[in-house]
Amino acid sequence: MITSTKVKLYPNEMQKVLLEKHFGSCRFVYNYFLNKRDEYYITHKDSKKSSLNYLDTQNMLTELKEQYPWLYEVNAQSLQMSLRSLDNAFKNFFHKNADHPKFRKKGKNDYFAIPQHVRIKGNRIYFPKFKEGIYFKGSKERLKEIKEINQIIITKDAGYYYCSIIYEISDELPEKKPLSSENSIGIDLGIEKFVTLSDGIAVENPRFIYKVEKRIKKLQEELSRKEKGSSNYRKHVLKIGKKYMKLRNEREDFQDKVSTAIAKQYDTIIIENLNVEGIQKNHHIAKSIGDASFYNFKQKLLWKADKYGKNLVEIGRFDPSSKLCSRCGNLKKDLKLSDRIYHCDVCGVTMDRDYNAARNIRKMGLIKVGLVQPESTPVEIATSGLHGIYPYRQMSVVESGSSDALAEG
Ligand SMILES: [Zn+2]
Repeated sequence: MITSTKVKLYPNEMQKVLLEKHFGSCRFVYNYFLNKRDEYYITHKDSKKSSLNYLDTQNMLTELKEQYPWLYEVNAQSLQMSLRSLDNAFKNFFHKNADHPKFRKKGKNDYFAIPQHVRIKGNRIYFPKFKEGIYFKGSKERLKEIKEINQIIITKDAGYYYCSIIYEISDELPEKKPLSSENSIGIDLGIEKFVTLSDGIAVENPRFIYKVEKRIKKLQEELSRKEKGSSNYRKHVLKIGKKYMKLRNEREDFQDKVSTAIAKQYDTIIIENLNVEGIQKNHHIAKSIGDASFYNFKQKLLWKADKYGKNLVEIGRFDPSSKLCSRCGNLKKDLKLSDRIYHCDVCGVTMDRDYNAARNIRKMGLIKVGLVQPESTPVEIATSGLHGIYPYRQMSVVESGSSDALAEG
């Protein structure tokens, strides 16, 4: 199986210059042959061979290098990858899957690929023309999985350099554990508490994410007061870009840790089906969710459930998980979005709104896969494995009815 991970590069000044040369040369070659292929088509469209293919351009590249010797300063294979990507763009165009290829612009989508001779040793990544290796930081867990590197792609975003490592995973995926209510968990996703589990553990959205979000908002306001197109304006845009990048990276890291902990700990994971469009239509919520991070998290959970041989069950998002009492099954129709506490007027139970929802989600998931009958609730409370990862809290149920209700789950 092939997967990928993105790491951040910390090149020294010399390496930065060489990286820029790679971006520039690959872009030059791409644009040069985009033009050549168009020209050729115009002059040959009625002849037997009406267009240039990848091999034609590869042969022409040899001549081009004689003409522009600076092209020798960069990895020859990266230039060829540029031709490959141009060829794919044309193929997509011919098959009507895409528009006609566009010229690549400096500073927009800067990238180049290295298909071979990549090696990782410690915190450095080595590839042709970069003999001392470039220092990098990335997820240790992901790096451990790498058996064989397929290729790497270097990109630049908001002034920072990144490397996507595309690699083969050594082991076959483990066999799935049998579906069972034992060690199963329901997950409620939220804004303030990022996840609330049906065993009462909640992991808060980390403070640093709030902080960066707040900072971005302030920068955006400052930007609106600057003159469009001025050098100050451009500097400010770059600043905002960097903050967004930081936000994305920290969110990735946070979600990686939480999803791994859940997938490792529980055998059956039950989650609500998410409709990203639906979530984003709600303006108030959309603000905090940003780039559909719930969806992102669910994708991570899916992949990690596969990786650890666990089951992921999705329930319909229209199931009334918030309004139902997870103790007695009473439907509280007048529950408002602002009500953070669920209080049941029928059985008298009081608990955190999200905790109540998570318990319902678990129950609905177990009903869906036939492990629990709709009428009964013989579900044990699992113990959580999220301790020590991020600040979490233990939810409680305040009983005002009978005292043995908690154990019913
Ligand atoms: Zn109730």
